[in-house]
Amino acid sequence: MLNSNPDISGFAATITSWQKVHGRQHLPWQGTQDPYRIWLSEIMLQQTQVATVIGYYQRFLARFPDIQTLAHASQDEVMPYWAGLGYYARARNLHRCAQVICQDWGGQFPLNSQDIATLPGIGRSTAAAIAAFSVQERSPIMDGNVKRVFTRYFGIEGITSERATEQVLWRTAEAVLDAAPPGLDMTAYTQGLMDLGSQCCTRSRPGCEVCPLLQHCYARIHARQHELPTPRKKKTSPERQCRMLVARNADHILLEQQVSPGIWGGLWSLPRYDSDEDLQAACCRWGSHDAPAQRMAGMVHVFTHFRLHIEPWYVVNNTLQLAEPAPAQRWVALDELRNTALPAPVRKILEGLFPASFA
Ligand code: SF4
Repeated sequence: MLNSNPDISGFAATITSWQKVHGRQHLPWQGTQDPYRIWLSEIMLQQTQVATVIGYYQRFLARFPDIQTLAHASQDEVMPYWAGLGYYARARNLHRCAQVICQDWGGQFPLNSQDIATLPGIGRSTAAAIAAFSVQERSPIMDGNVKRVFTRYFGIEGITSERATEQVLWRTAEAVLDAAPPGLDMTAYTQGLMDLGSQCCTRSRPGCEVCPLLQHCYARIHARQHELPTPRKKKTSPERQCRMLVARNADHILLEQQVSPGIWGGLWSLPRYDSDEDLQAACCRWGSHDAPAQRMAGMVHVFTHFRLHIEPWYVVNNTLQLAEPAPAQRWVALDELRNTALPAPVRKILEGLFPASFA
């Protein structure tokens, strides 16, 4: 830690006071102590902006209002409520977690962070946030926003995803809570850290002039805001290609369920082909002589670890038997597409072809 004069004992109280005036107060998952609702919001908010999450959160809760309803649903019922949010392992783990809570915890969400962290898809920081918001447990969180605030304020160098740096961050966060006054409002403190990182101590343009931590902040004093957190060396993403086929039969489209785990595990994609030969064979199988396959405009979809170049093709054959596809495939009526769990680029392709199905 490079900051030789941090205000450790006042840090948590400063954040808490700031949150009560400047932080977020009226999000749909605030003002509840229900760990189910808090857990759902925390999982949805991983890697996703608040504004995007709000609609998904409300629709999900309307369909799965409690843990029992979620546990007893099938994965096929759950995935449409996540389609478009990305990082689909989160949804599969959420569903699995609900089943574990019903089987092993009598349907009651555990209420301390150590127990919560044993559940599928819940790491230490998320477990601490759930326990802080639901029962005021005094445990630190350490997500991307919080790492940014801590590295800058305390002057902590090193790649934040590396173990040694993470350990320093966690130890610092524990020291802050140890030094904080008794009776600290853990809801306001935890929310305040998240809000300060996302609203004030932002990645490229931190608002130091209005930040409650400015007086003792190492990065501000030494003008090192843009050097902390220590940037990772940029890696170029590998490029991958695939061909997708929109096979239409009257008012049905052929879709194929993706295997779990996998990038789109559990979702319904257009059939994908890695080679022109495989695509040609599929066009012959699902197309007709009267209407040759048409190549549509390509697109690029960016994943965390690679970029996928998609080349969509379109064939129509209104004389096929609907019962013919392989086991993982099914014909989906155009008016069911809206409620089908489609990966974002597949939805975009189908929306372009059949806008009325998504209206
Ligand atoms: S003073 Fe600036 S760099 Fe420091 S915590 Fe506040 S916003 Fe971030």
